[in-house]
Amino acid sequence: MARGPRRTPRSRAREEALAAAAAVRVPARCDVAVVGGGAAGLAAAIAAAESGASVVVLERGLACGRTILATGNGRCNFMNATLCGPAPAWERYNDPAFVAAVCGPRFGDDVLAFFEECGLAWAEEEGGRLYPLSRQAASVREVLLARAARAGVVLAPAREVAGISMSRHEVRIRPLFEADFSSKKGLMYTSLVYAAGGGEETARSLGLACAPYEPVLCSLACAAPQDVSLAGLDGRRAHVVARLVRDGREVAREVGEVLFRPYGLSGIVVFDLSRRARPGDVVALDLTCGLDRDRARALVAAAGGCAGVLDPVIAGALGPDALEQAFDLRFVVTGHTEPERAQVTRGGLLTEQFDPASLEARELPGLFACGEALNVDGACGGFNLAWAWRSGLVAGRAAAKSAGNRA
Ligand SMILES: Cc1cc2nc3c(=O)[nH]c(=O)nc-3n(C[C@H](O)[C@H](O)[C@H](O)COP(=O)(O)OP(=O)(O)OC[C@H]3O[C@@H](n4cnc5c(N)ncnc54)[C@H](O)[C@@H]3O)c2cc1C
Repeated sequence: MARGPRRTPRSRAREEALAAAAAVRVPARCDVAVVGGGAAGLAAAIAAAESGASVVVLERGLACGRTILATGNGRCNFMNATLCGPAPAWERYNDPAFVAAVCGPRFGDDVLAFFEECGLAWAEEEGGRLYPLSRQAASVREVLLARAARAGVVLAPAREVAGISMSRHEVRIRPLFEADFSSKKGLMYTSLVYAAGGGEETARSLGLACAPYEPVLCSLACAAPQDVSLAGLDGRRAHVVARLVRDGREVAREVGEVLFRPYGLSGIVVFDLSRRARPGDVVALDLTCGLDRDRARALVAAAGGCAGVLDPVIAGALGPDALEQAFDLRFVVTGHTEPERAQVTRGGLLTEQFDPASLEARELPGLFACGEALNVDGACGGFNLAWAWRSGLVAGRAAAKSAGNRA
C-alpha cells in the first residue's frame, strides 16, 4: 500500500489550524473590518466591538496574535513604565509630536488600564520594561483573544487581503481566498482599520504616501579597532555606556548590554542605536560603564590586572592596554545586519495623512491605520508594542464611531 507523506506534529497542527480557519464564516458586510490580526489589529478590533460595532479581523497568518508570541524572546515586553505618569517618554519615538497627539498625556496609564481590564498581571524589570507576570507572551495573546471573543469579534485567519479600494460610503476588500465569497464584488464594510504591520504592497494599494520600509532595531555590522579580533570577543556580553558618534559629534547615547558578534555588535543598546546609525558612524563603548578613570586605574594596579574591572575574557581579547582601550573602544559602522531579525521596520504610511485624534486618513474617510503600518517606530523596551496597543485602541474606537455615522 502506498504511504502518504509522514505527518509530523507540526504539519498536523498546521492542518488543524487551516481547518479551524476554513470553518470561520467571514461576514460579507459589517461595520468595521480590521486588516491584520497582530498587536494593533487585536486592540483595534476589541475597541471597535466594545464601542458597539460589528467587527471582522482578516489575518493572513494561520492564527491571530502570532506576532505577539515572538516578542521579548517569548516573554513579551508589552509596555514601558516610563510611558506612565504626567510626562511620558515621547522622545523614545521617531515622531514624538505625532505619538503624543495620538496617545495623549495618559498614554502608559491607558495601556495598563486596558490590560487590567483584560485580566493581565504584570511585573517591571530593569529600564521600566513591563512583562506579563507569567513571563509568557502567550499570556498576553490569550487575554486579548478571550476579550475579542467576548466582544463578539469575528477572527478570520488565513485570509490575506490583496487590495483595498475606498468609496464615499464603503470599503471594498479584494481577498486572496475567494472560496469564502459568493459575490464577485469582494467584501464590503463601512470602515476599515489598516493594521497590517510593516509591509509595503497592501499599504500601497490604499493610494496613500508611504515612506520606504527599512529594518531598524537590529544588529550593526562594524569594523573593529585595530588589534582587536571580533572573533575573540564573539558571544561575550558587557554592560556599557555606548555613544553613537558622527563627524566627531555624539548623536545618541545608551546604557545597557552589548553583545559582541563576529560581524560587529548586537544587544539591546546596539538595537537602540541602530535606529539612528549610518555607515561611517562610530559606536564608542565605555566598557567600564562610566567608572572614574583614575579609580579604575588604581583598582587594576591593586589587582595586578583588569579582572576586577573587566570581564577577563574581554580583557584578554583587548590585549596589554585593555583598560585604556576599554574606556573608549571604537567600532566603525559599515551597515545594518541580520535585517530579517530586525524587531521593527521604519517607514510606512506617512503620519501627516492621518488625523491624530482618530487616526482616520484625512483624504479617505472611513480608513483608519494603526501600529507599525504607520511611519512610527520606538526604542527597545516595550515602546513599539505600547504604540501598537494605544494606536489600535484610538483607531478602533474612532472606526466604530465613523461606521455608525456613515451607515
Ligand atoms: C522578534 C521580535 C521581537 C519583538 N519584541 C518586542 C518587545 O518585546 N517589545 C516591543 O515593544 N516590541 C517588540 N517587537 C516589535 C513589535 O512586535 C511590533 O512593533 C508590533 O508587533 C507591531 O504590531 P502591529 O500589529 O502593528 O504589526 P504586526 O504585529 O506585525 O501585525 C500585523 C499583522 O498583519 C498581518 N498581515 C500583514 N499583511 C496582511 C494582509 N495583506 N492581509 C491580512 N493580514 C495581513 C500579519 O500577518 C500580522 O499578523 C518585536 C518584534 C520582533 C520581530
